[in-house]
Amino acid sequence: MRPIQMVNLKLQYQEIKTEVDAAIHDVLDSTAFINGKPVAEFASNLAAYLGSKHVIPCANGTDALQIAMMALGLEPGDEVITPSFTYVATTEVVALLRLKPIFVEVDKNTFCIDPAAIEKAITSKTKAIVPVHLYGQSSNMEEIMKIARKHNLFVIEDNAQAIGSDYTFSDGTKKKTGTIGTIGTTSFFPSKNLGCYGDGGAIFTDDDSLAAKLKMIANHGQQKRYYHEMVGCNSRLDTMQAAVLKIKLKKLDEYIDARRKAADYYDNAFANHPKIAVPYRAKYSKHVFHQYTLILENVDRDKLNEFLATKNIPSMIYYPVPAHRQQMFANFGGSSFNLPATDWLTERVISLPMHTELDEEQLKFITSSVLEFINQ
Ligand SMILES: *Cc1c(COP(=O)(O)O)cnc(C)c1O
Repeated sequence: MRPIQMVNLKLQYQEIKTEVDAAIHDVLDSTAFINGKPVAEFASNLAAYLGSKHVIPCANGTDALQIAMMALGLEPGDEVITPSFTYVATTEVVALLRLKPIFVEVDKNTFCIDPAAIEKAITSKTKAIVPVHLYGQSSNMEEIMKIARKHNLFVIEDNAQAIGSDYTFSDGTKKKTGTIGTIGTTSFFPSKNLGCYGDGGAIFTDDDSLAAKLKMIANHGQQKRYYHEMVGCNSRLDTMQAAVLKIKLKKLDEYIDARRKAADYYDNAFANHPKIAVPYRAKYSKHVFHQYTLILENVDRDKLNEFLATKNIPSMIYYPVPAHRQQMFANFGGSSFNLPATDWLTERVISLPMHTELDEEQLKFITSSVLEFINQ
């Protein structure tokens, strides 16, 4: 059996090596390391794939969130509603911009922000909602957009874990996640579903003037070189990363299918187990399984993690500490938030290996090992 990794990028690379190596050599030959042709080409290909009018590439997914919040003209003290059960980047940029993070509950089934909790958290200072499509499943965007319209709020979708996922509205219309809110953001961190070979990120919007502003902010607040209209930052996707992404974007749907196939195998193996809840699949979302995350009941999660490690099976806790309990937010009233569902999940989730190269032998070994521990 091949060694099992949480994420295996090597085999995926080997399959596209000829094409990737040639594309990187082209960039080397061109020496257009910044803003070379592949950057605009990739942005345009991704816009077409997503059905988004504008895609603005940037340096990483954290910058994408920051630039999105800067472009919406939020002022210090404005309230931004986010889940606490997320990767730190989502909430960190809120604090960085001196906005006020308002942490709300997630739905225990979907792991995503709970629309009812959003509605309760709205005040006269609320300006934006940041749903995170955690583990590859969309938040309930139809409800969230209803709330946003009703209260005139911006919606920034943190789509770093769900790129390529479809959302189906109750009238049957479909949209890609990240293209439903005011702005969508993503990360091309190597282990993401669409990852490059370094850092990268992008911002999506259908709004022309917002797109111009996003582009300007990512480029030192200038449209015309050396004429700076506003305070911005320096956030670029470099040419080599864009060249890699152009190739990997063509494979994204295939990669998603491979992840979903592995998830199906896991689901079947753990079906109806009294101590294991397999990932819930919301009917409005096509789950793209950035992570395959179980909820365990009456299982010593740390001991399971150790047991699996003795068999060279990695497993991870995403995320062991929710945002509102992080020291980072001590001065933002983090500990004053009462989020029992978030705490409940934080104590029970465990993620198993998930990537595009898992084979049946490995999946069988992983699932039988998990069951061996849990059933003992
Ligand atoms: C990865 C990730 C980010 C940040 O992306 P970087 O490219 O690492 O800055 C933001 N939000 C979520 C939900 C992520 O998973």
